[in-house]
Amino acid sequence: MKVLSVSDVVDPLVYTKSLPERFGDVDLVISSGDLPYYYLEFIVTMLHVPLFFVRGNHAPMKKPWEREHPLPQGCVNLDQRVLNYRGLLIAGLEGSMKYSDRGIAQYTEGEMRLKVARLIPHLLWNKLREGRYLDVLVTHAPPFGIHDKPDRCHTGFKVFNWFIETFRPQYLIHGHVHLSGYHRPEDVLVKVGDTWVLNTYGHRVTEISPKGREA
Ligand SMILES: [Zn+2]
Repeated sequence: MKVLSVSDVVDPLVYTKSLPERFGDVDLVISSGDLPYYYLEFIVTMLHVPLFFVRGNHAPMKKPWEREHPLPQGCVNLDQRVLNYRGLLIAGLEGSMKYSDRGIAQYTEGEMRLKVARLIPHLLWNKLREGRYLDVLVTHAPPFGIHDKPDRCHTGFKVFNWFIETFRPQYLIHGHVHLSGYHRPEDVLVKVGDTWVLNTYGHRVTEISPKGREA
């Protein structure tokens, strides 16, 4: 299954009229957050495949007259959900480490532990039914010590390290960490135990097969 993932910056290679020619063969789009909603809505409209997203710490906030924070139209909010898309077991956890009282989708380590705990019954059900817990965890923030940075905002979550050690998804796909033009390959993709940790920054195309099935 071909997965297009996006995060953090509007990528001119994606935000173009030739998107269907360039990425018309993708089966699924994942957003790891911090993107304007017009961009996600553009992608989902042009490609006609599902777009699963988690919000980042720069998610659009509600206007004073609005009741709730806006969400992108036509896209699926993956936060704290576990889904089975054509055999691919996928879950999401939005947000960054809490660093200010302004903004949304910011969590302390303890709050993120709670969010993870709420996924566990469904992961156990997957294990019983499908023989594995999960294929892909979509997050905004990285795990602690992997692709993260020392400042509070960009510190990764330790509970994500525990998650990949325990549930061993094929991929953890995150955003939040901006890359310069001179980054090393391991700043984008690194293997931790059985899990590839992918920093999407911009866009990436990844072939992911549900374990034990054909792509
Ligand atoms: Zn961010």
